[in-house]
Amino acid sequence: METKFAIGIDIGGTSIKSAVVSREGKILYFFDKKTPDNFDAFSLYLDRIINLYKNRQNISGIGIGIPGMIDFKSKNLVFLPHIKYLINKRIINQIENKYKLTCLMDNDAHCALSGLLFFKYKRTDKTIILLTFGTGTGSAIAISGKLYSGNKFSVAGLGEMIIDTNGRLCTCGRRGCLNAYTGAIGIKRIILNNLNQNISTKQLIGLIKTKDIRIKPIVEEISYHLGIGLANIENIFKPDEIIFTGKNSVLWKHLKKMALATFLDNQFGNKKHISTQIKISPFGVKTGVLGAASLVLSH
Ligand SMILES: [Zn+2]
Repeated sequence: METKFAIGIDIGGTSIKSAVVSREGKILYFFDKKTPDNFDAFSLYLDRIINLYKNRQNISGIGIGIPGMIDFKSKNLVFLPHIKYLINKRIINQIENKYKLTCLMDNDAHCALSGLLFFKYKRTDKTIILLTFGTGTGSAIAISGKLYSGNKFSVAGLGEMIIDTNGRLCTCGRRGCLNAYTGAIGIKRIILNNLNQNISTKQLIGLIKTKDIRIKPIVEEISYHLGIGLANIENIFKPDEIIFTGKNSVLWKHLKKMALATFLDNQFGNKKHISTQIKISPFGVKTGVLGAASLVLSH
């Protein structure tokens, strides 16, 4: 049997990653480009990458992950807080008509977990929660190995759980969501509040490593709220694993100590031991493209 391939496109608020992926999870090409700031430039870039990849043999289709919600009936993009120009666009129909290839699209966190289930876990009965630490905080849930889709739009809003009703303003307009502390925009605001200047995640990690005293309240604020979020997830789902993905998941190593202490304090029942495995996606920055491609390859 010939190997099947799919084009995987992971559209994020900050960058668009794309690849050709085999059914076995092998990545043939991988590109990462800044997300354009308008629809025309976005369409041009999408055409460029599809044209580049589509002539490869045995391409079964195109899978796309987006940081928002899709109405699967109308195939309309209904909610994209960080790429507003895509709202109400029917990209799926446009691509299918133009390239005569199947195009499947889903929320990016849902794609990421779908990819992990398909390429890494194969058959599993584990309950797994995925949190994406990107521009915003996305999430997906697999109950006993099966992706949970809710009643519409296949989005699990764990990033939008309210941790503190009087907390920081979130990009969604409400106060104290987990996302206000773990999304890139939230983290930037916390840094700005404490340092009066903006620094990148890389610079933040650099200052953490040098034990810069100014960084302590930043790490404490992010870790504490993340710890409460994780405890809520634990108390509700009792998952086997919690997996982080997204560009800011590299921060986990530095937040872990305090986040886990807060988690333990707020865990219902046993306050001495955390049975859930908490880890970063083994696929790293390629989790999203593998996930997007899995939409096509798992069919
Ligand atoms: Zn929010």
